[in-house]
Amino acid sequence: MRVHAYRGRFAPSPTGPLHLGSLFAALVSWVHARQHCGRWSIRIDDLDAQRCDPQWSDAIIATLAAFGLTSDTPIVYQSDRIIAYGEAFAQLSAHAYHCTCSRKSRAPGPYAGTCRRRLGRSLPLQGAIRVDCASLQCTLDDIIMGHCMYPHPGDPIIRRTDGLYAYQLACTVDDAMDQITHVIRGVDLLESTLWQRHLMHHLHLTPPTYGHFPVLVGHQGDKLSKQHGAPGINPRQPGQVFRQLATILERPEPPDAGVPIPDWLDWWLAQGDVTSWWPKMRQNIPIA
Ligand code: GLU
Ligand code: ZN
Repeated sequence: MRVHAYRGRFAPSPTGPLHLGSLFAALVSWVHARQHCGRWSIRIDDLDAQRCDPQWSDAIIATLAAFGLTSDTPIVYQSDRIIAYGEAFAQLSAHAYHCTCSRKSRAPGPYAGTCRRRLGRSLPLQGAIRVDCASLQCTLDDIIMGHCMYPHPGDPIIRRTDGLYAYQLACTVDDAMDQITHVIRGVDLLESTLWQRHLMHHLHLTPPTYGHFPVLVGHQGDKLSKQHGAPGINPRQPGQVFRQLATILERPEPPDAGVPIPDWLDWWLAQGDVTSWWPKMRQNIPIA
């Protein structure tokens, strides 16, 4: 058995405090790693300096630690890996093209491939670059959702108009560099998975195993997120927050809020295989 080779990760973007939805995502990936005797790492997705703040990185790491979720390996910062992303970008150039469509001129939904006719031409030093995903596979064997079929998401941007390497490229490179074997994340990232797996194929990398779980949604049915103003969680009362999560997940007999965090984590680990935690599969979980 190669169980010890398991490596999982949680990859927050430091654009605000950790909220309940992201704590839930961290916990699920951590429990899955531990239930498979695996290692679990934190990666900070801080490529976009306009939106990210080192203070939020530190705050998120400290909050995770208050919940007993600490990285088994040194924390990776995407902002330290620009050279690696540049190398992968160069390797993808045969499949890439310059896209001059403005956001306004584009129809909503997946990118229609208007600029694909430029495939094969050399790439300009500036401007948005997309990767041709015409042959992308739209099915996925997901260890949580089972066999899924997803509409074609279009061609992703790998370098943005502002010159930054895009998340899709960075995450693809990172998961390979960090030898991640299991990517366990919210179902909102399913589209990213199809793209990242396709980019891995072009880069001759072996994709990890993927599992997507339902995300916590607010009253309007939208995912809890910083953009929608989800409040930060209180790292001084981790037991209370864990109890709130246990209630949302309809777990019977959660411990008291005052129970020490290591005992809480043992309780989470004893809640059965994390892939069977959801009462109604494929649905998102309202927080109230
Ligand atoms: N940082 C991204 C996010 O928070 C990516 C997460 C991931 O790849 O798991 O949505
Ligand atoms: Zn275009």
